[in-house]
Amino acid sequence: MDKTINGTVTLHNGVKMPYFGLGVYKVDAGSQVVDTVKTALETGYRLIDTAAFYDNEEGVGEAIKTSGIPREEIFVTTKVWNSDQGYDKTLQAFERSMEKLNLDYIDLYLIHWAVPGKYLETWRALETLYKDGRVKAIGVSNFQIHHLQTLMDKYSEKPTVNQVELHPQLSQPELRKFCQKHGIQVEAWSPLGRGRLLNHPVLNELGEKYYKTAAQIILRWHLQNNVIIIPKSVTPSRIRENAQIFDFDLSQEDMAKIDAININQRFGRDPDNANFE
Ligand code: NAD
Repeated sequence: MDKTINGTVTLHNGVKMPYFGLGVYKVDAGSQVVDTVKTALETGYRLIDTAAFYDNEEGVGEAIKTSGIPREEIFVTTKVWNSDQGYDKTLQAFERSMEKLNLDYIDLYLIHWAVPGKYLETWRALETLYKDGRVKAIGVSNFQIHHLQTLMDKYSEKPTVNQVELHPQLSQPELRKFCQKHGIQVEAWSPLGRGRLLNHPVLNELGEKYYKTAAQIILRWHLQNNVIIIPKSVTPSRIRENAQIFDFDLSQEDMAKIDAININQRFGRDPDNANFE
């Protein structure tokens, strides 16, 4: 049990990032996102994952400002959307996100998807923002090994983080190994498989063994694999439930049982075959 709710990993540029947080995709703008982020912060979450595409950055910023928690204790991620990619458009999109979040800096800025023909120029814009001190760290999302390799062949600044779909039915062993080799921190989106894995017999059996829910078993598996997690919920009891994963350890044998669930099944878009229109 070497992990705590406010524990961090150190990214390759020295920035500390919490390995546990809240995702706010499909959380409505306005009071729903404000209340959800506030509940998470009160529960002890210190990482909030939003994106320009989620259309709720204002509420995320408002909840942070009014939380009473010092800004530097909260880690905020946002992302540049596909239609805003390219050098100039990314810089403009960043200013819009900053205005909406109403913060002085962003902790982590990500390329949301590797839009073909665009993502290399988008990365150049992220490098500019990083060098200008507007963001503490820059990274990518939904990058396959070949995207990462292409980007690293061209630029000196490599991504600190790759946020990808990752859960027991899509455990991405090759991508995780590649990222680890290159010092790129892996972060799981849909860590719970969008809630669709919670009736899996192996996870329920382990839940009974550890007196935990299937959701808690999955989240603990991610942490023990050194993967950052951002489970989403707007339900206060679930927000708290998802945070109660720091008082037990899965054995190596049980970790292997969860590893064996992998069937390379995506619930979200395939990064190589997505329609970026
Ligand atoms: P998730 O795996 O976090 O599942 C969320 C769903 O699971 C919720 O809507 C809820 O219905 C259910 N749930 C959550 N906790 C539960 C619990 N304890 N018991 C029962 N059900 C529970 O899926 P997600 O929202 O797709 O992913 C999490 C976050 O990842 C997003 O909010 C977003 O921040 C990020 N994300 C990023 C990308 C990307 O392209 N970079 C894509 C999707 C999501």
